[in-house]
Amino acid sequence: MSTKQTCPERKPLSTISQNKSHQTHSHQMKVIETISEMRSMRRQLATPVGFVPTMGYLHEGHLALIQRARAENASLVVSIFVNPAQFDPQEDFSSYPRNPQRDLAMLAAEQNDVVFMPSVMEIYPSGFNSWVEVGQVTERLEGASRPGHFRGVTTIVAKLFDIVQPTRAYFGQKDAQQTIVVKKMVADLAMDLEIVTVPTVRKPDGLAVSSRNAYLNLEERPAATVLYRALCLARQLWLQGEKDAGNIRRQMTALIQKESRATTDYVSMADPETLEEFDTVKPPALASLAVQIGKVRLIDNVVLE
Ligand code: AMP
Repeated sequence: MSTKQTCPERKPLSTISQNKSHQTHSHQMKVIETISEMRSMRRQLATPVGFVPTMGYLHEGHLALIQRARAENASLVVSIFVNPAQFDPQEDFSSYPRNPQRDLAMLAAEQNDVVFMPSVMEIYPSGFNSWVEVGQVTERLEGASRPGHFRGVTTIVAKLFDIVQPTRAYFGQKDAQQTIVVKKMVADLAMDLEIVTVPTVRKPDGLAVSSRNAYLNLEERPAATVLYRALCLARQLWLQGEKDAGNIRRQMTALIQKESRATTDYVSMADPETLEEFDTVKPPALASLAVQIGKVRLIDNVVLE
């Protein structure tokens, strides 16, 4: 954890009259839609400021980030923005699940201070034409399967960091490559904040919680546990002394093939910093995969160390 700022008592937020606010008992949460209002609100927040960027449709995974950020900071800002720049043209941007009213109620219950919910035009006004691109670590895995995805992610994350100016920002291990890419951007561009990674939240049967799970039908939902089963197999093989990464990848792929509703996109045993595929596993290793269940593309990972 960063030691550059101490944690003073939380000072009350002043009220900006045109803003909507959500009240629970003694706590008032601000809902802000413009960049200029977010910047002026930021100047009034007690530091350190924790920040959780999300695309909304909040679930237990988001709540783990939010609760960790709440516990470690004097102020908490959560953003909700479904970022069109990180979806392929044929991907699910317009049908991505959204429920802002439910999200706001959940955030108020978590004692969140500020919700930043800009419109697409606020973030990408007409003529917008600047991008943040990270190199090599974006070329593999998700980057190879979803061209342009990480350019969209790093551009929005850099823009949000500049607007919110957080002391710490919280990202999920669930999107392991995204966290690696964001850390690389922050290091390379000397951005003045700390990136905190939060462990993956899972359902009791092992399925990683995800907004996209909402698309799974009744038959697909049990089939979706195949991702976690394949990761457990990788861990088990590795614990038994298997060092041949190719063999682990092959056995994971074979397990996924047995599930008729599943199609493997990629299966990886890679170095968790560079994302280079291992021939021989040298811990720590990132076992990760992307699998299509029916029409729903899911990702998951575990770190072997
Ligand atoms: P999203 O709204 O899908 O963009 O996710 C926002 C943040 O929540 C990202 O940092 C994700 O990695 C994180 N997240 C999503 N699902 C989970 C999960 N099951 N466990 C932990 N973090 C998660």
